[in-house]
Amino acid sequence: MTPGPFKRIALIMLSAVLLGLSLHHGFGNAWLSQYTYASGATDPIGIADLTTAAVEQAAPQTAKPPAPAAPAQPDPAQIETVQTLSKRVVQYNMQVALREDIRYLDGSQTVTWTNPGKKTVSELYFHLYPNAFQSEKSTFMRESGGQLRGDKATAESQGYMKLLTLQTLEGESLLPRLHYVQPDDGNTDDYTLTKLNLPVPVAPGKSVTLSMTYEVKLPEVFARMGYSGNFVMAGQWFPKLAVYELAGTRGRTNEGWNVHQYHGDSEFYSDFGLYSAQITVPENFAVAATGIQTKEAVTQNGTSTYQFYAEDVHDFAWSASPDFIYAEDTLSGTGIPGVRIKLYLDPAHEGLKDRYMHAAKSALSKYAEWYGDYPYSTLSIIVPPKGANGAGGMEYPTLVTALAAESDNPGYSLERTVVHEIGHQYWYGMVASNEFEEAWLDEGFTSYAEDKVMENAYGVEPNLAMEASYITAPAPLKQPSWAYHNSDEYAENVYMRAKLVLVGIEKQVGAKTMSKIMRTYFQKYKFKHPTTSDFQRVVEQVTKEKWQDYFHQYVYGSLMADFSVEAIRVNEVEQDGQTEYESTVLIKRNGGQNGPIPLIFSFTDGEKISKTWDAAESHIQYKVVHAAPLAWVAVDPKNSNVLDNKHINNFMRAEVPEQSRIRWSLGLTKLIEGLLGSVGW
Ligand SMILES: [Zn+2]
Repeated sequence: MTPGPFKRIALIMLSAVLLGLSLHHGFGNAWLSQYTYASGATDPIGIADLTTAAVEQAAPQTAKPPAPAAPAQPDPAQIETVQTLSKRVVQYNMQVALREDIRYLDGSQTVTWTNPGKKTVSELYFHLYPNAFQSEKSTFMRESGGQLRGDKATAESQGYMKLLTLQTLEGESLLPRLHYVQPDDGNTDDYTLTKLNLPVPVAPGKSVTLSMTYEVKLPEVFARMGYSGNFVMAGQWFPKLAVYELAGTRGRTNEGWNVHQYHGDSEFYSDFGLYSAQITVPENFAVAATGIQTKEAVTQNGTSTYQFYAEDVHDFAWSASPDFIYAEDTLSGTGIPGVRIKLYLDPAHEGLKDRYMHAAKSALSKYAEWYGDYPYSTLSIIVPPKGANGAGGMEYPTLVTALAAESDNPGYSLERTVVHEIGHQYWYGMVASNEFEEAWLDEGFTSYAEDKVMENAYGVEPNLAMEASYITAPAPLKQPSWAYHNSDEYAENVYMRAKLVLVGIEKQVGAKTMSKIMRTYFQKYKFKHPTTSDFQRVVEQVTKEKWQDYFHQYVYGSLMADFSVEAIRVNEVEQDGQTEYESTVLIKRNGGQNGPIPLIFSFTDGEKISKTWDAAESHIQYKVVHAAPLAWVAVDPKNSNVLDNKHINNFMRAEVPEQSRIRWSLGLTKLIEGLLGSVGW
């Protein structure tokens, strides 16, 4: 997701550039240009048909090998032999219809879960995320106050998910076995997570298949999902299984479910597998979705039905509107076997389509080059209409939303948002970290990657010193999203501070080693669920150094690395009958250590002396005798210490000789005098 408006406003102030690239038009045949099918296949395909669809998806112009077949019941032994990208733990076969008033979804699905562990499992957990909008009392609404990134709930923003049936394949109703649970806060008014006690436990390697029907009331969108005008964004819209984590995954000693409710500042966590969706919408609506469209839309009785399929993803989202203006292009290159980029534009931004496409291509090209292959054949970008920004700036597997088309001249925020969300295809989509518990691993990494693309493709350099100065409430990066006191604190830490922590590593090891770290981490943990210590281990393996202190201070801890010039005193001294000046300077480290810190002493005769302080101690006193008095002192004049969030104290001008100038309060003044006294002032 993109962070809140404080960052966007800063970015909007920057001027826009128009970059030209030609696109192909024509939505009606969008599905045809890259995929071919056996003639006569007009029925919506069932899960058994996926075999055919998946095999036939390979486009002539791509180098991607045909995708492996999708078995109706995943057989772990077979999965191993076909070397799938991910361990396919889940398989969803979904049907959903958007009612004509576009306020409701009528859904059904069969879901198969294969026990990836070594223990027999007797319960499943389903996320019913739309229940976040059920009442003011849900945990999401209590924590968020009914707003996200400045987009506020309206009177129409109530929503819910109601499970109508839940059955085994034999037809046994399991609804009585279903209980809402609230492991995070015990809020019994929260219905976003359910626990199902299975009638028959699932042995390791074995599967269970359930079928269910449900109804979703869509909220008027303010938080990712819902409708606005005649635009619909369906994210977190189906009953979705939680992640069963194995021993050794994310530091777990015992395997088990990782379950959380929907929180005000949290995103999501789910598992890899096969997702097939048959989406029915009012006839004139176009549909964008995760994965590939496997057959032409079927129109009958005033509705159109689309069929999509995705493999080795961990979520499925779609969007519908009668107003989308469609454009597409293809991209191939290093790490990109051949990707169809599909753009679903709000008409207000039709004139900007080349910019969207350029941003998407720039981002995908760079990420693939830097981190590794983008293995999917599709990437969709949705531009929501004005008023629907709650749905904007969000990532889903192979599908992202840009900022809503609010402005005629969106500045670099247009490109930046597209670049950011596509970054999540790597840091969230493939490296599937736990967004509930370690949001910095997706948002911080994506923000870091986003800056690199913006600089590389658009020459937009980040002002890291300014961004660091926004950090007023540093907090640990590895903690649940709801442990942050508010959304500002969440954003400034998991986006901004996390990014600076990564840049801080880069400053120490150099750009080349840092890119090796990022690539190694991606390669090692793609299609897995890594944790913070997994990343630390990669940093240590690549650099062959211990990073415990750094991670302890800045990742697990909440330190910044503020340095200050605390005091300057200049005294006249007689030396060999000449008047000289003895300047005494006190420099203080107020936060964590972050490598050696450069200093500059500048004298009134124009002479400058550079020094480097190792900053091992909490403070240091320098005494310099020079022919002229000291004029000023600067700590870290080039802002190389990116974790310094208070730059105002990095510089001090000396006042007239024989006086000292001490910054800050009287209490601190006394402390400093005490310190100076102790070192022989
Ligand atoms: Zn994000």
